[in-house]
Amino acid sequence: MNNESTCSARHINHVCIAVLNIEETLEFYENLFGVTKSGEIETIEDQGVKAALVRVGASQLEFIQPIDNENGVAKFIDRRGEGVHHICFEVDNLESKLNELDLAGVQLIDKEPRDGLSGTIGFIHPKSTRGVLIELVDQKTARR
Ligand code: ZN
Repeated sequence: MNNESTCSARHINHVCIAVLNIEETLEFYENLFGVTKSGEIETIEDQGVKAALVRVGASQLEFIQPIDNENGVAKFIDRRGEGVHHICFEVDNLESKLNELDLAGVQLIDKEPRDGLSGTIGFIHPKSTRGVLIELVDQKTARR
C-alpha cells in the first residue's frame, strides 16, 4: 500500500447508476444478473433521490432515482441519459482525507463529511478527477 498518496483508496465500495425507475431497474438487474438489493429502497431527502444498494460479489452497485426534476441527478439524466453516475472508494479517516485533498487543491463538493446511503461520505468534483464524480466513504461506517 502506498502511504504517501494524499487519499489512499482501499476498495471500491460501489459503482452508482442513475436511473429513471428504480423499482423496474432492480427487477431487471435481478432477473438478468441474479443480484438482489441488500436493503430496502431508501429516500435520501437532502440529495433528492430514492436509492438502493445491490450486492455483487465483494462489491456493490448503487441505484439512484431522482424524486424531483430540479436536482443534480435529474439534470445529469437530462443531459446524458441514464448511466454511471459516480464511483465510491473506501478510505480511512474521511475527515482528514477531505482536508488533505482540499489543501492539495483538489476541488471538493463536500469539505465536511456527511451522512449518505453507504455511510459517512464526501464527494470530489469531477473537474478534479478527469470527469468522474468520486464519492469517498469512511471505511469504519461503510455498508458492505
Ligand atoms: Zn454512492
